[in-house]
Amino acid sequence: AMVTRLGPSPTGFIHLGNLYGAFVDERLAHQSGGTFYLRIEDTDDKRYVEGAVETIINSLAFFGINFDEGALLDGEKGDYGPYFQSNRGEIYQCFAKELVSKGMAYPCFLTEDELAEIRQKQEAAKETTGIYGKYAEKSRSLTIEEIEENIKAGKPYVVRLKSDGNHDLPSEEVRHIKVDDAIRGTLSMPENNQDVVILKANGIPTYHFAHAIDDHLMRTTHVVRGEEWLMSLPIHVELFEKLGFEMPTYCHTAQLLKLDNGNKRKLSKRKDPELSLDYYKKEGYHPQAVKEYLLTILNSNFEEWRIENPDAPMEEFEFTTAKMSSGGALFDINKLNDVSKDVLLRIPASELAKFMTEWVREYKPKALKYFEGNEEYIARILDLGRTGNKPRKDLVYAKQIFDFISYFFNDYFVITDQIPEQISDADATEILKRYLESYDQSDDQSQWFDKIRTIAEDMGYAAKPKDYKKHPEEYKGHVGHVSTVIRLAVAGRSQSPDIWEIQQILGEENTRQRVEMLIG
Ligand code: GLU
Repeated sequence: AMVTRLGPSPTGFIHLGNLYGAFVDERLAHQSGGTFYLRIEDTDDKRYVEGAVETIINSLAFFGINFDEGALLDGEKGDYGPYFQSNRGEIYQCFAKELVSKGMAYPCFLTEDELAEIRQKQEAAKETTGIYGKYAEKSRSLTIEEIEENIKAGKPYVVRLKSDGNHDLPSEEVRHIKVDDAIRGTLSMPENNQDVVILKANGIPTYHFAHAIDDHLMRTTHVVRGEEWLMSLPIHVELFEKLGFEMPTYCHTAQLLKLDNGNKRKLSKRKDPELSLDYYKKEGYHPQAVKEYLLTILNSNFEEWRIENPDAPMEEFEFTTAKMSSGGALFDINKLNDVSKDVLLRIPASELAKFMTEWVREYKPKALKYFEGNEEYIARILDLGRTGNKPRKDLVYAKQIFDFISYFFNDYFVITDQIPEQISDADATEILKRYLESYDQSDDQSQWFDKIRTIAEDMGYAAKPKDYKKHPEEYKGHVGHVSTVIRLAVAGRSQSPDIWEIQQILGEENTRQRVEMLIG
């Protein structure tokens, strides 16, 4: 069983990349019967935003991604806490002291100016030894007495790792480390040679140090994180070694990219509203659609699996890091929309009605009266044209679905299209009057259509001739135009599902009122 974690900084912004990573974590853990936990990386208090933890948990929960342990809404859960790094200060201090006592780390009293000077000298000499190399040798090897003296004198210090790495060797002699990455295979990188800071002057750990300690103590088996951390992997390898901890398996995920005028680029907070998770909530994408879409970019064989297993729960697909792309995952909203159409078609109308109701509650509260308590009615509307052997496949997200079906709700009913040009205004009124006279709610579909045909023929609108398209100007409108007039009256638009079916749902009174309204 795998143990994975999400380690967000509580900055208040949670985006598609976070969801993508969290989804990998969640699948690995739950697919293997393991644990997925939430650790809050809040050591940088400048970036703390009130309510950010709730936002993270709720945003992910909306997409069905839940934590088993960690910093949860009703408090911390699990035996490996505290789960806020800000409450783990003593733990980091202890390990730092241990490393110092073993000669593997040291308090460094160099000032910013001294450090800058060292960097300059190294650059001038083209030396690549960890920046503290020979110029900081003294700082690296202070005696205990000297250290105590400095501390007593109130000199500020950081604690640095005393790296064993040496890059000032003939290049073939520079030691390389090998790390197995579950996505990228075996990586070979020059070992670390930087005396990186592990505790800052205020005693707070750096990312590197907290990562090694927390992921070890919290028994993480798989560290899923963005590829921006690949560069510092050698630091982490040395830290795990020095601390005597076993390394977790790393999974460095590729960046989410977007095709923009034929070029791949990173999604940007400013330019791409779809980077924000809120976007999907507001538009009303079904969480299942977003997740299935993410699986299609994560594992190339998912689509094939879905075709072979159209009805299986997504969780039965065996997700694997080995099939993840290391090059960059391409995000494409059109593809998401296609996936969503398929996913929505598999969701029963009753469930979709519930989903729509929740979306309406949040984003169209004035329409809630039509939805709340009327889920069965809404389900009938949603099922219009969805059943049968050629189901309509155009429902994508709640906002768009609401527009599709809004004509059912009197407050939203408007006539948006024109009467076909083949039919004069006077004739249109006449058609509607005759329609009203002959209207019988209990007609079945063919009785209903016979009546339309009769009206059309009586008024000189013949059935559509076969060569109608060749000489449209020679024909007065036909029965199709006549029914468009009725469609406009009933649904307000010239494209809609079957009129008879709409009327069955609308009911007689509503239907008659609408026809009367168009007569004027
Ligand atoms: N706090 C780090 C971040 O937000 C976590 C990276 C990791 O998962 O190790 O980038």
